[in-house]
Amino acid sequence: MASNSNVPPFQAMILEDHDFQRKIGAHVLKTCGAAEVLEAANGSDAIALLDARQNPLDIMVCDLNMPGMDGLEFLRHIGLRQNSVSVILASGMEASILRAAEMMARSYGVRIIGAVEKPLSEGKLMPLVLRHFSQHLVSPRKQVAAMPVAEIKNGIARGEFEPFFQPKVDMHTCKLAGVEALMRWRHPKAGMIQPGAFIPVMEANGMINDVTFVLVEKSLQAARDWRDQGYPITVAINLSVDSLRDTTLPDRLMRMVTAAGLAPDSLTVEVTETVAMTDLGHSLETLARLRMKGFGLSIDDYGTGFSSMQQLTRVPFSELKIDQVFVTGSSKQDILQALLTASVSMTKRLKLKSVAEGVETEQDWQSVSRVGCDVAQGYFIGRPMPRDELIGWYRDWMGAHNNVAASE
Ligand code: C2E
Ligand code: CA
Ligand code: CA
Repeated sequence: MASNSNVPPFQAMILEDHDFQRKIGAHVLKTCGAAEVLEAANGSDAIALLDARQNPLDIMVCDLNMPGMDGLEFLRHIGLRQNSVSVILASGMEASILRAAEMMARSYGVRIIGAVEKPLSEGKLMPLVLRHFSQHLVSPRKQVAAMPVAEIKNGIARGEFEPFFQPKVDMHTCKLAGVEALMRWRHPKAGMIQPGAFIPVMEANGMINDVTFVLVEKSLQAARDWRDQGYPITVAINLSVDSLRDTTLPDRLMRMVTAAGLAPDSLTVEVTETVAMTDLGHSLETLARLRMKGFGLSIDDYGTGFSSMQQLTRVPFSELKIDQVFVTGSSKQDILQALLTASVSMTKRLKLKSVAEGVETEQDWQSVSRVGCDVAQGYFIGRPMPRDELIGWYRDWMGAHNNVAASE
């Protein structure tokens, strides 16, 4: 790990009786940026190590099934000692046992980060560790004041919602890889309103579908116009859980794409991992059908949800978007770099395209380019813009990056 990190090096422990698994756990913790990793093969040794320390540990991985003092008893002890270490549970036993252990530990006041199924691996452990630290490093998203329901209804009736488009560019050629449609409210008095002020209200009040399809319609119309000007551009739209629950959604989107004179591969659907995993039966049916019909399917905000990789592989995604909390400022934070590396190598294994969101500076661009990310999106490239500005933006962008594209 580079020494210029502004992340304080953390102190860790692995408690695991199996030698090889313990070495893997220690290795992953070091790769994530641990300055020191204590190793223990049973609960009593771990307690002795903890008691001998002056400063508390930051994080530990705890196996449950061990000879001597097992993981459950160990967790009870550190709960009673009010030790502040944050714990990742590891076990080869069934998920219900892990859940019971987690509840027991929490009831003793132990801080649990999450649980992983054994065998331990970098792919399972690293995201949990890095997410834990990044949540402390990166400030949460800004909260904005919510608009009243009645006013939103008026806005829908008056047709004031429209998509803005943000470019996604190929990191090798700098060419446009597509655009993401982001909803904006052109309010007659308040001016342009961002989605944070109305999407959660729409979702909570069952109104989101009223505007989703208006947005899709307008986005497809824009894509058609760009194509007619000689720019075939893929448009990505964001879907909420309500839209996904409707198993007729793929047919409806298909009709809309056809009516616009486009093919399904010109539309990509973005859903967050949380949305994809809610109401799993319905959403899996809808998502699988979308892919079967040839639409693109993207995991949005990857890294902010709690689904395991195993769960995500059940859904036939074509693209993974790494959330901006892991991208913006990543060149200065080793922990974020490590998570980027892990996420990109996982997307390669799963044969998915990786997209980095929140590329705000040249340093962010360098940092995601270094780990081999395929596509970048963010203010450094372009902000979300009205449809009529996109082609002008693209000409300027290619003018500035022509040498890159020409050398491909
Ligand atoms: P998202 O899907 O993760 O969209 C990316 C958000 O990051 C957008 O915020 C975009 O403007 C912002 N962004 C892009 N580049 C950068 C950057 O370099 N730095 C920073 N700090 N931010 C960047 P926006 O437009 O405010 O949208 C917020 C969220 O609202 C979206 O997050 C999406 O979850 C939701 N949303 C937007 N449009 C729709 C829609 O039509 N339907 C649904 N269901 N949700 C939508
Ligand atoms: Ca999105
Ligand atoms: Ca996102």
